[in-house]
Amino acid sequence: MKQSRLTTKTRKEAPKDEVSLNAQLLMRAGFVDKLTAGVYSFLPLGFRVLKKIENIIREEMVAVGGQEILMPTLHPKANWEQTGRWDTMDDLYKVEDASGRQFGLGPTHEEVVVPLMQKFANSYKDFPFAVFQIQNKFRMELRAKSGLMRGREFFMKDLYSFHLDEKDMDEYYEKVKAAYVRIFQRAGIGEKTHLTFASGGSFSKYSHEFQTVSGAGEDLIYICQKCSTAINKEIKEETPVCPECGGADFSEEKAIETGNIFKLKTKFSAPFGLEISDEKGEKKTVIMGCYGIGLNRMMGTVVELFSDEKGIVWPQSIAPFAVHLISLNQDEEAQRIYEQLQREGIEVLFDDRDARAGEKFADSDLIGIPWRVVVSGKTISAGGVEVKKRSEEKAEVMSVEELLRKMKIGK
Ligand code: ATP
Ligand code: MG
Repeated sequence: MKQSRLTTKTRKEAPKDEVSLNAQLLMRAGFVDKLTAGVYSFLPLGFRVLKKIENIIREEMVAVGGQEILMPTLHPKANWEQTGRWDTMDDLYKVEDASGRQFGLGPTHEEVVVPLMQKFANSYKDFPFAVFQIQNKFRMELRAKSGLMRGREFFMKDLYSFHLDEKDMDEYYEKVKAAYVRIFQRAGIGEKTHLTFASGGSFSKYSHEFQTVSGAGEDLIYICQKCSTAINKEIKEETPVCPECGGADFSEEKAIETGNIFKLKTKFSAPFGLEISDEKGEKKTVIMGCYGIGLNRMMGTVVELFSDEKGIVWPQSIAPFAVHLISLNQDEEAQRIYEQLQREGIEVLFDDRDARAGEKFADSDLIGIPWRVVVSGKTISAGGVEVKKRSEEKAEVMSVEELLRKMKIGK
């Protein structure tokens, strides 16, 4: 993509009403725009990051047998009355049409997925199965001060699994837990993300959150110094020792809840009467699990973790482009290299603008693409291009072939 054609431009100043670092940087660099508090548009650069996050999550969900579907946002009131959550779910947006018909804007989809699957799963032979979607959710968040990490409208991946018995659910739950670990690793935040025991509410002893340590987090977690599993605040009160290893030495950290998985058991299948006759002809209520992860929140978290005073430092796996190619008055040679890199399947943002070197470098640091490649008269006479990683200080002149070799091994 040629930067001269990019519909967005960078800005020197963050909007005054935006207090969170992630939204400030993402808005200044032109990844997102704020329509109103907690509601963001994804611009070309931000959309590319969102799609990369989405694809990592999708691959891992498909790998655990999830089948992708897409459910509506507009939910009839009756579905929410069936589980009692029309009145108890504080963050449910409720809308009414001109005839007085009421709807909820989906904050989560148990009320839709259960009656949906009920239409198809009518024999024990159909079990187990799992469906997921990547879709926009609505929640009436009162505090929307954490930028992309807490939206009123945001994208979530929600997976729902259906089982004949608890043992089967438990086994599947462990598989999804492992898939979540892989997702966070692949997105570059694995090291800072802790599996965290959270109280499970009425239907299960524990649920598990994935909490990413960051000063920008709204939660407090207690990390076991022995096994690095964490527990959240409420259960720390109930459970003074680590439920994983029995350790009693914890460090307290601020953290961001980047994912949450639950053993729902019959919490939502029972109200809809989702029952099945097993092999022996015995009627059983279907057992369920649900597994959520926020895409916007993950994007915001990555920016909170990986930035410096100059801007964002994207992990390669979710960066909008792999290479930021900067021409300093050498457009013809740069164009040739641009085409060569693209032929190699490398995603390149080509700064072909008529702008000063200082401005190009400052924008490149702000946008945060992992490999900066400069083409200038100097680099050409030294035999190639100047290569600098966003995460490192040193720059080196090398041939394009050498750059390609380095990129292949990721160093
Ligand atoms: P929180 O406690 O932060 O409000 P939650 O526990 O209500 O979140 P869940 O219902 O567990 O959220 O949703 C699953 C996942 O969706 C969360 O782990 C998080 O990654 C994401 N998520 C939830 N609320 C938001 C939001 N308002 N904006 C962006 N992502 C969100
Ligand atoms: Mg949660």
